[in-house]
Amino acid sequence: MMFGTDTIKKFETLETPFYYYNLDLLKKTLVALKQAAPPEYHVHYALKANANPEILRIIREAGLGADCVSGNEVKRAYETGFKAGDIVFAGVGKSDKEINEALDIGIFSFNSESTHELEILNDLAKKKNKIAPVALRINPNVDAYTHKYITTGLEENKFGINQHEFEHVAQLLQGSANLKFSGLHFHIGSQIQDLSAFKNLCLKVNEINQWFIKRGLFPEHINLGGGLGIDYREPDKNNIVDFAQYFKVFKDLLELHPQQKVHFELGRCIVAQCGSLISRALYIKKGINTHFVILDAGMTELIRPALYQAYHKIENISRSGQANTFKYDVVGPICESSDCFGKSVELPETRRGDLFAIRSAGAYGEVMSNHYNLRESAKAVYSI
Ligand SMILES: *Cc1c(COP(=O)(O)O)cnc(C)c1O
Repeated sequence: MMFGTDTIKKFETLETPFYYYNLDLLKKTLVALKQAAPPEYHVHYALKANANPEILRIIREAGLGADCVSGNEVKRAYETGFKAGDIVFAGVGKSDKEINEALDIGIFSFNSESTHELEILNDLAKKKNKIAPVALRINPNVDAYTHKYITTGLEENKFGINQHEFEHVAQLLQGSANLKFSGLHFHIGSQIQDLSAFKNLCLKVNEINQWFIKRGLFPEHINLGGGLGIDYREPDKNNIVDFAQYFKVFKDLLELHPQQKVHFELGRCIVAQCGSLISRALYIKKGINTHFVILDAGMTELIRPALYQAYHKIENISRSGQANTFKYDVVGPICESSDCFGKSVELPETRRGDLFAIRSAGAYGEVMSNHYNLRESAKAVYSI
């Protein structure tokens, strides 16, 4: 059970909606991750999944590095105490300001996504009389078998450098005095549950790695990105992902030189299950064919269902275990028809004031919240 009686009693005293984080589960997840990762694998945490300072502190204390996709994430990681040498910076559109700040901090690697970006990075590093360490973000053209909005490793996606550009990139790197080639980076998508996508990735990585070594550019590290999916349907049964099975794919299939280091950038699978969005039922509305529960939380607090048709488990935690159930569409208060958390959800007969938990909301929840309709920010509440 995620919510004990004491926890629910405490929730009753709080203003809704809010994000609730079970820090104990986060710590257990990090222990499981550490135990499953071979000692030579370095895991970075992708800040974009959840950049909440309390959560970042726990992740840093567990010894993970930081994977950032904006200048402010680089700054947040650095300010939270991640060492500059443990921070990587990816993203298709790094601004000059963001690059300059990361150069000043002296991060481990810029994961560069285009030849044009490499040219600008070289110019900006030259102006500062610095050498920028770069990993190439490669588009391996591997299907992640996930929602089209979170697939990133196909040629038609905007991310990464495609294979036909390799020779040009190699020449560019060798002719750029202020760039130091350090590795190869891959990230094919998110919420990947079919491990065969990672198997296909490994086979592509082996080929591409060989190409660069033969071309005289030795990748000191190979970064395989993140993307490991979680169980949104059964968050209690599978509250921690099978990290061992995930790492085994890479252990079995990657063919690397003994001097090459292996990096990962996991986000969702570390933080998703420890977070829930807690909300109250404001109104029950009886339609002709459909009954609605209208919550005081909406797509402004958790946009995933509206943006990716994502499923989140919805629970009426004030009446859990009650036998008398009905089907409801669970919606938010925002003036958009897509502001719906779930259709035809089986729930106990719901009354105004009942507390709801929208589960597995620790990743891409609070960080994606916005102020549409001039809504206030939901607060974060930690395990109580
Ligand atoms: C989003 C992202 C990640 C993390 O993805 P998850 O699915 O949350 O594990 C890792 N690396 C890069 C470059 C990303 O953009």
